Amino acid sequence: MTVPKHDVGVCIVCLLRHNNIGYSPTPRHPVGWFCTDCLDTGIDAIKKAYHMSRKQLDVYEERAVEAGSEEAGAYLDGLGKSDLADLEKHEWLEMWRRGLLGYANEMQKMMSENAPPF
Ligand SMILES: [Zn+2]
Repeated sequence: MTVPKHDVGVCIVCLLRHNNIGYSPTPRHPVGWFCTDCLDTGIDAIKKAYHMSRKQLDVYEERAVEAGSEEAGAYLDGLGKSDLADLEKHEWLEMWRRGLLGYANEMQKMMSENAPPF
């Protein structure tokens, strides 16, 4: 099977940039693209994400958003700032970076677990 490269796009698990790693159960199914970090969680995690229903994925994504927001909040707590208007540009960007990575890390963690996280 030949899979065309898909250079631009995001990983279907963590929403970070994918690394041209595709999975499809058969040639007739669309290819799901993944990043190397998610692949490191194991092929079972990749298959789990690919075959998960939208309703199930919504629950996982909600939990990942919570985890990301906790990371961003912890960063703000560390700065001693709670008013977003008081943030310097680099602090604003770092808060978002931590939130996004918190989301990605939680999605990878949940996909690698056998039981649902709720
Ligand atoms: Zn990923």
